[in-house]
Amino acid sequence: MGTLSELYSNNMSLMLNALQAQGTLARHELADITGLTRTTVSRAIADLVDKGVVLEVDYGQASSRGGRKPIRLQLNDDAFCMIGLDLRREKVNGCLVRLGGQSESEISRPIPHNPSQTIVLDTLHEVVEELRNAASLPVMGIGLGAIGHVNPSTGIFKPYNFESMYGVPLQDVLTQRHRLPVSVRSGAGAAAIGEVFAREQKGIAVQSLAFVMIDYGGLGLGMMSEGVSWTGKDGMSEFGHTVIDYNGRLCDCGRRGCLTVYASGRAMLKRLAELAGQELPNVQLDQLVALAESGDSPAQQALTEAGFYLGYGINDIDCIMHPEYIVLGSSHPGLADWYMRGLLQNIHESGPNIFDDNLTERIMLTDKGSFAIAYGAAAMQIDHFFKAPVSIVEQLPPATHIIQFAR
Ligand SMILES: [Zn+2]
Repeated sequence: MGTLSELYSNNMSLMLNALQAQGTLARHELADITGLTRTTVSRAIADLVDKGVVLEVDYGQASSRGGRKPIRLQLNDDAFCMIGLDLRREKVNGCLVRLGGQSESEISRPIPHNPSQTIVLDTLHEVVEELRNAASLPVMGIGLGAIGHVNPSTGIFKPYNFESMYGVPLQDVLTQRHRLPVSVRSGAGAAAIGEVFAREQKGIAVQSLAFVMIDYGGLGLGMMSEGVSWTGKDGMSEFGHTVIDYNGRLCDCGRRGCLTVYASGRAMLKRLAELAGQELPNVQLDQLVALAESGDSPAQQALTEAGFYLGYGINDIDCIMHPEYIVLGSSHPGLADWYMRGLLQNIHESGPNIFDDNLTERIMLTDKGSFAIAYGAAAMQIDHFFKAPVSIVEQLPPATHIIQFAR
């Protein structure tokens, strides 16, 4: 048995989810849909209206025969916002996302090569503070999508090749500094949550979705099924170390032919050096995309080849899970677009897979660009609100809203 406050939070969660799904509802309809008593509905709605989470919309006279339509309720898309963060080795991206899903104030701050822990954490804190200053709505939480392994239960970060950050309890560090609820997850996992959330905001129901994230050091995979985000043991999974050629190139992990040796950002920069016939001093992924955009043929070849190899990994995902959507993205602007060219070429050349149902129609680029992870991290916090709303409702300042009149 839960406590009374847990029961209240669960009831409120039922109502908020019903309002999100239905758009607008009268109080009696909300009671019918949720199976709660009208008294329970009235009490929770009074709290939600007081704090501006739910708006009352008055439709006025019903008809010439008289009688008013009951006041209808709807979620206030602008009740508050969440901060979304994306931590990469090279940068921190951040944005604000409103309860209704609208994204704003996207910012990106670079991290120098081989940074100390202090530099990385200071950059994260600066991005949070800048976003809080930019926010016109109350900020009620922080979500973080990180590179490498991060355990969503303990909030502890264990990335490869990012030594200064190994073992940092990111969730605790951010909570203590900013005094807000914080949750953390792998970048691809957060982005998958964001993709499903954004579709649901548009009224599109999603049964299953995979998000493939292209990064300098490797490839990430986030999965959603029936509204639940897949979490590997201790937050771990390694899509980049699935083997596409068992006699292939040697990987850092000791095995041969891992996808990451062919399709990660690092592998692609190595390939570019081969094509150019020289060592390339410190070319960054963002510069590589710019080179390709300017018509540089080796850069274009390195990018599309990497995308071609990723096509094998995508086909494996499809064979294992056959998701409704396979979404491709990267925190580096334009990178996923170039991969997509090679990837589609692979699928066309390889022919239909076992399902023979046109895989290319289920593969798409994220429409959130290089902020897909930051957006998803904020969406993850909004998801938490829908599951356990009371603590946030209690913290919100009283609203100044009055009844709105529908036009
Ligand atoms: Zn490997």
